[in-house]
Order: sequence, then C-alpha cells, then structure tokens
Amino acid sequence: MIDIKELRKSFGHNEVLKGINIKVDKGEIISILGPSGSGKTTLLRCLNYLESPDGGTVTIGDISINSGKVNKKEIISLRKKSAMVFQSYNLFQHKTALQNVMEGLLVVQKRNAKESKEIALEVLQKVGLKNKIDSYPSQLSGGQQQRVGIARALALNPDVILFDEPTSALDPELVGEVLEVIAKIAKEGKTMIIVTHEMNFAREISDRIIFMDNGVVVEEGTPKNIFVEQKEERTRQFLKRMT
Ligand code: ADP
Repeated sequence: MIDIKELRKSFGHNEVLKGINIKVDKGEIISILGPSGSGKTTLLRCLNYLESPDGGTVTIGDISINSGKVNKKEIISLRKKSAMVFQSYNLFQHKTALQNVMEGLLVVQKRNAKESKEIALEVLQKVGLKNKIDSYPSQLSGGQQQRVGIARALALNPDVILFDEPTSALDPELVGEVLEVIAKIAKEGKTMIIVTHEMNFAREISDRIIFMDNGVVVEEGTPKNIFVEQKEERTRQFLKRMT
C-alpha cells in the first residue's frame, strides 16, 4: 500500500533523509523509533508532501509521486490518502470538537452537513468524547484534545493514519488514554505509521518497527527482532537509553 523509495531531503546543507526505503502493507502497524533529529518527523511530512522531498518516490495506493516530476493535482490526490495526527494537536481553537472533526469532511471531502455530522459523531464516540462534542479546545485536557485530533483523522477514513509523536506534548497521566484510543483503532485494521518515544507501546502494538538514526533506516523487524534480537549496535545503544 505504501512504497517509499530512495527518499532524500535536505534543509540547506543538513541532509536529513539520506535515501529511505520502506514498504508498508495494508493493515500494517509500523512504529518508527530513533533519536531526536534522526529525520522521523521529516519522513512523515514527506509522505503527504507537507515537505517536498529532494529525491525519491512516494507511493500510496494508486498515487505515485517522483520528486523530480511533481504536479499540484497529484499532491492533492496523495494528501487525500493519509491523515496526520500532530504532536501539538493543531485544532482550530474557535471551533468545537464536533466542528473540528466536521471541517475536513465538509471542506476536503465536500460532504453535506448532515452526513458530516453523522460521521463526526460516530468517530467522536469511538474516541470516548461523545459528551464533549460542544467543547472548545481550551475547555479540553491535552489528552481530550489529542483524541479530537485522532477523531478528525479517522473521520476522513484515509488509507493510512500518520501519527507524529502523538503523546509527547502530554502530561504523563494523560498519555494512557491516548495510547488506548490508538490501540483500539489499530485493532480495527487501519494502516498506521507511528513516530513515538513510547517504547512499551511500540513493542505491544506494532507489526513492524523501524529504527532510524541520522537520516537512514538502521534496522527494521518485528518488535522481538528489534527489542530482543537487535543486530545493530546503534539500535542497542538507543534502546538502552530509552528503556
Ligand atoms: P526527528 O523527528 O527524528 O526528531 P526531524 O525530522 O524533526 O527529526 O528533524 C531532523 C533534522 O531536520 C533536524 O536537524 C532538524 O533541525 C531539521 N529540520 C527539520 N525541519 C526543518 C525545517 N523546516 N527547516 C530546517 N531544518 C529542519
């Protein structure tokens, strides 16, 4: 379903992605681990062209974009294939939880108000926020805001949900409720790529783990391969620091 080939990205002289190759099957849950600054967020952002790669090809489903031959229409089509859950939630502050979730359905998917509301209510129920639909972000805890962020992504029914460190802005006591919601969605067979520093969570939830360092994929495999039988010294050192 997803095929990333030789993906490259630099910011000035800083080469952040140095030829990344990753394939993801439909329904697979992939966690990307790695030290800060290793390029994980940039990789996610290249998948929907929030950042334009300098080299390589991104394929999601039937849309394939080569960095050398990009047109706007293709980018719009590619963006519709995924939905991102951001570290800092990125909710509209002047809209309620319900309105935040409805926004993409109305504006991007051009659905009518009735249908958008039905879908939004269903996903807000799924993330446990049925009783908060009329609350504004400022009236919600960080965990609740992030669950709205997840509901918003889920509502669009994308081929893949991209999670960019979804719990790293949260107070420790609020992390669990968000991870629980992500685990619930994972069980429903959604394809997901999750950048996270939550090692235990990644270990439990993932079909496959990718360890990145310094712009390259150092090692990938099952949670057992990475957490127990890791082959690379860099992986071992990182896990030692994190666990
Ligand atoms: P990670 O998610 O693994 O922490 P990032 O992808 O956020 O890594 O960052 C990788 C590197 O790219 C860092 O050195 C960061 O400073 C740099 N970087 C990320 N985004 C930008 C940007 N918009 N402009 C310049 N440098 C950036």
